[in-house]
Amino acid sequence: MSAKHDLFGTHSDWLTHTLDNANASLPETKTVLPDGTRISRKSVGVLDIVPPAKRNNPNAEAIIVSAGVHGNETAPVEVLNGLVSELFEGAWELACPLLLILGNPPAMVAGERFMEVNLNRLFDSAHGRSEYKGLTESARAQFLEEACRQFAMANPQALCHYDLHTAIRPSLRERFALYPFVEGRKAPADQCDFLLESEVETLLLQHKSGTTFSSFSSSALKAESFTIELGKVRPFGQNDLGRFSGIRDALRRRFRGQPAPSVQAPFDRLTVFEVVHEILNTGKNFRFHVPDDVANFTEYQPGTVIWEDDETSYRVGHSPEAIVFPNPLVPVGQRVGLMVRPGRFQVPAR
Ligand SMILES: [Zn+2]
Repeated sequence: MSAKHDLFGTHSDWLTHTLDNANASLPETKTVLPDGTRISRKSVGVLDIVPPAKRNNPNAEAIIVSAGVHGNETAPVEVLNGLVSELFEGAWELACPLLLILGNPPAMVAGERFMEVNLNRLFDSAHGRSEYKGLTESARAQFLEEACRQFAMANPQALCHYDLHTAIRPSLRERFALYPFVEGRKAPADQCDFLLESEVETLLLQHKSGTTFSSFSSSALKAESFTIELGKVRPFGQNDLGRFSGIRDALRRRFRGQPAPSVQAPFDRLTVFEVVHEILNTGKNFRFHVPDDVANFTEYQPGTVIWEDDETSYRVGHSPEAIVFPNPLVPVGQRVGLMVRPGRFQVPAR
């Protein structure tokens, strides 16, 4: 029997196994590839992969990659599944420990963003709040946090986490990354290089810590983490994976422990935005003046009223601001969108 059969049975790959077992609770199952790489399927959609002990890890790193935290964001799931298939086929040798995660399998099967509640708001222990008790996504968030904690403890190397998404809306900037807020830190130069290598040319610095997956790994595990938006939501099989070759090739290069490309991208290609205002649904007759079909990074001129309620309103300040993630259909207290503007560009230190 092959190693692939050990983990995925008669399924053709990791993704089909995950979709067909989305609601099953399967025991941890392990296998070893012919080259000695050990792979453990810790749960449906979660693979812990350890290269042979004698192999060098030249970049001295351990990497977590997650996709499908929103179930309908299929392209990054297909990209990650393709890299796992390559590894099983022996197409290349793995150099660093990996934790690979398909975040929300039941939602992936349903073709929905989530089943009961947005999984990407349940991290950093938010899953324990009373309003989320007993929900499918709460149990998954708790499990994923624990899997990441164990991975971080087992791998004292520099830890990185890339949480891959695609956006519901069109975006004037096709690919962009969010850097979770951690007091006093700056995005390192090698991470900015990796974003550019992945054809991600926009970086949004978050202004406060949150309950997203990447916020959790940044704050609780001290990882260099990014939420990366790679294009537009489409159903499985309808993605043009050619548009995702940048992230695929860059991740594969990291997985193999190869050095960064010798010609480093100029930092001035990376446009950095900072958050100037977080729009919350105040519930007090909240009115949102951004149209439903507006693209991410659409710019508004100074003085434009963005939202108001019975007590207050928000106007764009002295320079233009752009909207990111507008979505008025969220519960009271939750985020309706972010107003951002180009930050004072700080070239990361080399
Ligand atoms: Zn998403």
